[in-house]
Amino acid sequence: MTTIPARTRIGTPIIPRNKADPTQSARQVGRMYRDIDDRYYRIKLALKQLLDARLTGTERIGNASHAVYGDVIYQVNAGSYIYDMTAAQLADLLQRVQLILDDALLDGGSQNLWALEYVAAEYERGTQQAFTNLSVQSAVYEQQTTLAQLLSSPAYQNQVAAAYVSTYSDWKGISDAARADLANVISNSIGRGVNPRETARIISQRLDISMARAKNVAQTEQVGALRKAQWQEADWARERLGLNTALLWLSALKPTTRSWHAARHGRAYTTEEVEAFYATNGNRYDCYCSQIPVLLSDNRNIFNEGLANKLKKERNQWVDR
Ligand SMILES: [Zn+2]
Repeated sequence: MTTIPARTRIGTPIIPRNKADPTQSARQVGRMYRDIDDRYYRIKLALKQLLDARLTGTERIGNASHAVYGDVIYQVNAGSYIYDMTAAQLADLLQRVQLILDDALLDGGSQNLWALEYVAAEYERGTQQAFTNLSVQSAVYEQQTTLAQLLSSPAYQNQVAAAYVSTYSDWKGISDAARADLANVISNSIGRGVNPRETARIISQRLDISMARAKNVAQTEQVGALRKAQWQEADWARERLGLNTALLWLSALKPTTRSWHAARHGRAYTTEEVEAFYATNGNRYDCYCSQIPVLLSDNRNIFNEGLANKLKKERNQWVDR
């Protein structure tokens, strides 16, 4: 005699209510952005103090003069500046610039980097979302999975550890690039006699560019961690429970969404397909798409036909907009 499972119906996946933010990360990303704002503000203050103290010299007064080097005549600006600085002093100055950048951007070091808190939180949120979504869809999953069990599993811990490594290397890259850039600006200013005020203005501008890059990296790390957690749980549910899982693609369908991201809205993919997508074309940057775990039927469709049609309609509307 066979027993009939109490609940065999496949539930409908949960689609985020805010369509423009399918990963539901806007608040979390905003919080990390404000942290980055504070860090760059501190960098600017510390650099201003340092440069005010170290970039000293004399303003050259008088009319524009001409200097002749070989056959070439250079015009030396009337207001050009002569810095009192030896090569050793310049080297020391640049080292202090690096310390200021590292203090703010590599705060906590490789073991406890400030950014890891944000990335780990998104990893956990992604796992929670996947857990909720799979629990709604599959009675087997719901009966055999607890969130605590997922969060303490070695697979989960390993993924978080791997995210730590790549996060640290991202921020090391941001700090190193800023250092190289500022070293260039400062050396150039000294070499060409650009006055300290103008030098400070250029440095502030360069830091704003660095900050924009830092925010781009932050969004990529946070949403990337959330997505990865969703992919991993879809895979693990298949391996552990034999569920026919896949990833349902949800695009933000913004006016700025790349057409090849929007084209995936409402379609189901394997984790390998999704990983391959994000490994190319800079697809992982500025991406607001989400992939949520779904159960597929034997012919690889999502179970709820109404939902499939609704998403298809949204996709076509974006194309025809
Ligand atoms: Zn995208």
